[in-house]
Amino acid sequence: MVRHTPFVIRLKDRTVAGSTMQGVELGIDPGSKHTGIAAFSERGGSRIGLYALQLDHRGGQIRDKLASRAALRRGRRSRNLRYRAPRFNNRTRPQGWIAPSLRHRVDGTVSWVSRLSRWAPVTAVHVERVAFDTHLLSAGRPLEGVEYRYGTLHGYEVREYLLAKWGRACAYCGASGVPLNLDHIHPRSRGGSNRISNLCVACVGCNQAKNATPIEEFLTDRPVVLVKILQQSKAPLRDAAAVNATRWALWRALTATGLPVATASGGRTKWNRSRTGAAKSHTLDALHVGALDHVTGWPSMVLVIAATGRGTYARTRADRYGFPRLALPRTKQHHGFQTGDLVRAVVPTGKKAGVHTGRVAVRSTGNFNIRTRHGSVRGISHRHVRLLQRADGYGYTTHPEARNRAAFPPPPEGGGIHAGGN
Ligand SMILES: [Zn+2]
Repeated sequence: MVRHTPFVIRLKDRTVAGSTMQGVELGIDPGSKHTGIAAFSERGGSRIGLYALQLDHRGGQIRDKLASRAALRRGRRSRNLRYRAPRFNNRTRPQGWIAPSLRHRVDGTVSWVSRLSRWAPVTAVHVERVAFDTHLLSAGRPLEGVEYRYGTLHGYEVREYLLAKWGRACAYCGASGVPLNLDHIHPRSRGGSNRISNLCVACVGCNQAKNATPIEEFLTDRPVVLVKILQQSKAPLRDAAAVNATRWALWRALTATGLPVATASGGRTKWNRSRTGAAKSHTLDALHVGALDHVTGWPSMVLVIAATGRGTYARTRADRYGFPRLALPRTKQHHGFQTGDLVRAVVPTGKKAGVHTGRVAVRSTGNFNIRTRHGSVRGISHRHVRLLQRADGYGYTTHPEARNRAAFPPPPEGGGIHAGGN
């Protein structure tokens, strides 16, 4: 046994010389909060999912910590202290710099890809590099009616493009987090075209209220919105690459590992998933990245890997003015354990009797807290605790894979975006 979680064994009863290795491939669906990674074997365009893991990033925590550090420094600078000469302004950002919270997503994902290729014979990586394929759109060909009714690949790329261009919010009222329709800015019935420059996204209410009304009439009492929509409709999404900056950085980092990296667009993933009838989850998206014919199965459980960090170097807590409030223990380890270790406690008697497996939080008193799948168990004596795996900066849990829709679904309406009728 090499590792407890994820479970890895080394086969000792065979030699490289006498074996044929089929190899596995990885699919990656990079997200802002979660990244799905699926290991699968592929033969002639048919995929079988073998292992699924979901990476939970801590970009939000990193951003908050940096913001609080910046606030403390700003406070120190403006305090009435001795004069400090300004530092010479020679600080520049290197080429390809991305914010630390985004850099963490890239580094974390690449780190897990290299771990997986250490444990399994990974032969290729498939990654979503962009949300939509600008090459497919660049021809500027109009969306045929059938393409948004039956969801062709081109139709899916158009949807993702429009969602990015209009900021995933209704163009007329600004509502977000609601189902959005494709809307013709100049109505079809009044000679408006099917070109991307005449399409926007609108909530169901606005879409129906506008219907075949000319846009100038629909927005008579809101001239500012009218001007904004007409301007934005003509402007192409110029920063398409910037929208996807993190994904490009991830692609560059993966390419640098030396593995063959195949790229695809998010629109294609959605289209694939609509054909196999798979539910929406980060890991199923990862399994559906790139060119494929069909998917014959996937694991029922997902390993959730949450980036937790490795604790803090600070050995004191400060109050809100920055003065020390309480001293923390000088050491990280107590009774041979450290916060973040994966442990198993067998408590024979008492209120906490039973077996508890999970991430431990240590205290110098020797009474530990263990965060298990079912919640936190507090005050477990270190005498009952056994180490399974040392802390490595991640917390591990599992959850069941998303449930499927019908095996052969009707033509889909598309993920969260429907065809408007006008
Ligand atoms: Zn609206």
